[in-house]
Amino acid sequence: MIGFDLADEHRLLEQTVREWAARDVAPYIREHDRQHHFDRERILTGLKALGLLGVCVPQEYGGAGMDYLSLGIASEELEYVDTSLRVIMSVHVGLNCLTLLAWGTEDQKRRYLVPQAAGDKLAGYGLTEPGAGSDARAIQTTAVKKGDRYVLTGEKTWISLADVADHFLVFAWTDQAKKQQRDPSGISAFIVERSFKGFSSGPLKEKWGILAGNTGYFVMDGMEVPEENMVGRPGEGFKIAMFALDQGRFTVAAGATGLIRACRDASVRYAKERQTFGVEIAQHQLVKQMIAQMESDYQASRLLWLRSGWMKNEGRRNTKETGLAKWVATVASERAASDAVQIHGANGYSDEYPVGRFYRNCKAAVIYEGTREIHTLMQADYLLGYRTDRPSRCELPPYATDK
Ligand SMILES: Cc1cc2nc3c(=O)[nH]c(=O)nc-3n(C[C@H](O)[C@H](O)[C@H](O)COP(=O)(O)OP(=O)(O)OC[C@H]3O[C@@H](n4cnc5c(N)ncnc54)[C@H](O)[C@@H]3O)c2cc1C
Repeated sequence: MIGFDLADEHRLLEQTVREWAARDVAPYIREHDRQHHFDRERILTGLKALGLLGVCVPQEYGGAGMDYLSLGIASEELEYVDTSLRVIMSVHVGLNCLTLLAWGTEDQKRRYLVPQAAGDKLAGYGLTEPGAGSDARAIQTTAVKKGDRYVLTGEKTWISLADVADHFLVFAWTDQAKKQQRDPSGISAFIVERSFKGFSSGPLKEKWGILAGNTGYFVMDGMEVPEENMVGRPGEGFKIAMFALDQGRFTVAAGATGLIRACRDASVRYAKERQTFGVEIAQHQLVKQMIAQMESDYQASRLLWLRSGWMKNEGRRNTKETGLAKWVATVASERAASDAVQIHGANGYSDEYPVGRFYRNCKAAVIYEGTREIHTLMQADYLLGYRTDRPSRCELPPYATDK
């Protein structure tokens, strides 16, 4: 049987996050966006108090012990207000914490996952480099074994929270021969701390969206990492990077769904206020068409991320479904934001209304965690039989409803 009602705890979470974001973030977001200011204190204190930084991490590892749908609900509500909030859920919870939960040793979970899930430490994900985005095998960062340590050398760029996170999940070549052959089984994953000698970071100042968030680069200059900080086995890094994306993309899908809803609500409001030719612009059929498209995109995107979250709860492989949810929602969010600006006319082209910010913010999600083109190819390849998902040595633990 299929039910479409949210459980009481989901509704409560939705309400709580909605109220917090409306009260503690919405009044300040325009100014912080204008100032390119990441309000670390206010945002992280709030997210921590709500338990969102470990929302679906089991309580034994410092989290709130909720299910994966809860991560989606929080992501949707946060991006309704601003993308920068949801990005924190994506990289800290989705890409980092859930990867440690599935692939980390007990010791790594105690040392890193527990403080992260409790909201005492902030975590990020470092795959992209100046010469490697969609083509992740093109990364150049190397990790050379030296006694009981690995020496990491390389640069990661376009990294969310690069200048503020305490820990990063980083990917580097540990097998130089395989690097030459671009064989991804030569890549390994590491937990890196900002405090490690040889680590330095900076912000990307030329960015034109998600301005209230932090995006930057970090450099690892002969940085020594203890061997016990390798996540998974040597050579499992690429699989771990892809596993992490299954979780991150889920939050991006749910977040983009929230952005579509924000565009829809702002457009409905404005269309009833603004008059042309003696009537509210909402009376014009072409305006109605844009609003109806937003509703259609919102509902379809929501169903897709809900299905993906349900599959995670059930412990089913969801790479294909999560990728579809991410692709559909982000492409639709770009359409919704563009039309929201259109409905606002010249006012939409100004910072006085939020839709311009939505338009700038939505574009990044069409690029990160698999570009629109990469997701298009993935979905075609599944259908054509060129792509199948093989079982992974470590999987996301299912959510037991009898907890
Ligand atoms: C705001 C923001 C935050 C980010 N945060 C993080 C983060 O926290 N951690 C992290 O590791 N990365 C992060 N990224 C980086 C992001 O993951 C990459 O930008 C993304 O993977 C795309 O890589 P690229 O920018 O190098 O584009 P490229 O890979 O160079 O692609 C350029 C264009 O070519 C197209 N293209 C490439 N290959 C193909 C192909 N085979 N077929 C068809 N078209 C193709 C792409 O779709 C795109 O349109 C972030 C990016 C942004 C914008």
